[in-house]
Amino acid sequence: MAMRSSITIVGASLAGIRAAETLRRDGFDGRVTLIGDELHEPYDRPPLSKQYLAGEWDDSRLALVDAGRLATLNIDLRLGVRATSLDVASRTLHTADGTSEIVDGLLIATGATPRNLAGGAGMDGVFTLRTLDESRALRSRLAAGARVVVVGAGFIGAEVAATARGLGLDVTLIEPLAAPLARVLGTKIGSVMAEVHREHGVDVQLGVGVDALIGTDRVEGVRLSNGKSVAADVVVVGIGVIPNDQWLVGSGLTIDNGVVCDATTLAGPGITAAGDVARWYNPLFDETARVEHWDHAVEMGAHAARRLLVADEDATPFAPVPFFWSDQYDRKIQLAGRARHDDQIEIVTGSLEERRFAAIFGRNNKIVAVLGMNRPRHVMQYRQLIAAGTSWDDALAFGQSAS
Ligand code: FAD
Ligand code: NAP
Repeated sequence: MAMRSSITIVGASLAGIRAAETLRRDGFDGRVTLIGDELHEPYDRPPLSKQYLAGEWDDSRLALVDAGRLATLNIDLRLGVRATSLDVASRTLHTADGTSEIVDGLLIATGATPRNLAGGAGMDGVFTLRTLDESRALRSRLAAGARVVVVGAGFIGAEVAATARGLGLDVTLIEPLAAPLARVLGTKIGSVMAEVHREHGVDVQLGVGVDALIGTDRVEGVRLSNGKSVAADVVVVGIGVIPNDQWLVGSGLTIDNGVVCDATTLAGPGITAAGDVARWYNPLFDETARVEHWDHAVEMGAHAARRLLVADEDATPFAPVPFFWSDQYDRKIQLAGRARHDDQIEIVTGSLEERRFAAIFGRNNKIVAVLGMNRPRHVMQYRQLIAAGTSWDDALAFGQSAS
């Protein structure tokens, strides 16, 4: 067991708070400091594009830990404090409130920040969606009625479009690819997502980008790459995120599209990383990647916390089958594994036409992912096959015997 007197966690959100809870659950009785630059106590993000944005949930439903439990964790919670730099050699962490501390164990969980369109930041009516404050502001605009343009048919875009249609608003969804999520799911399955939106009254415009926002102080619409314009009172930009790793450049850690970690989540001596900001080697898929989803932040936060408590020789790899879900209208989309558009794809139950199916993805004669639309049981079954390294042929045979 590694002997540590204290552990500092930077990033007081999902991965960070789950890491702190794990330390206490595993009996660590040293000092735990949790530093976060937001002013709110740790809250959950998935409802920000769904129930909270729709006005169905209030703030009390968002807490990641209730006040009583937070108190029992005995954490030094420093909110509204941004970490500005780290020097690994001297183990010094600097924060924007002017303090510096020598850290013992350090866990980095600073997440990611949305990209914006040129001119979008500061223009009234243009929103990115990551924080409670952003969701609150967008929610009041949607509740007041608005013509909504959503740029990017990734997760944020698809979920906001679904929520806004649920509120009865006019919604246009703009995506440069031939289908939503085509880079991951391929065009055939991505097209089903587009059709689901169309069936719910969204104007889905594919294969076209946004050249410019129209408006000066307040947004009036967007100009598309095909020369057309779409009028809007609200523009929601969901074009991906960048990891919050800039504050670590020059620290001595390897920063390359995230904090680079080994298979055990170690980024440097006594330093681990977890969640959206961490890029680590997953031996199960033989790849180094970041994963930007909820379950992953929970599991990796716990693993990275434990990694700080064990000696190097006892460390184990973090080798999960990544999993996420997305709720859009009455469809629950779930994906386990690592899908790519050029994988072999087979529908193993249901059909694309009925919008209720499970599809498996294969690469190098192995099953690597399963995607389900309203098929939770199948997703969990195939997830186990992925974890077991099952061959593609055996996965197909499993589907035939199960159906
Ligand atoms: P974050 O949640 O980004 O937290 C990082 C924290 O660190 C933030 O509070 C940030 O302000 C803080 N921070 C950053 N830099 C510093 C610094 N220098 N100093 C101090 N603090 C700092 N996933 C799913 O699987 N299913 C879903 O349905 C789903 N819905 C989502 C809906 C929305 C609107 C969003 C935004 C995300 C959704 N996700 C979903 C993704 C999931 O919420 C994220 O993967 C998860 O929040 C990542 O957790 P994290 O702790 O790594 O990072
Ligand atoms: P995302 O899932 O990465 O999707 C971004 C989408 O925007 C992609 O389809 C991308 O296409 C497209 N795009 C990129 N640049 C564009 C441009 N200039 N104009 C128009 N479209 C463009 O990211 P996101 O939807 O913004 O979500 C943000 C983060 O929140 C992600 O980490 C996501 O995982 C997370 N989130 C997750 C969920 C969930 O798991 N259910 C829900 C909400 C949010 P290309 O592929 O061509 O780049």
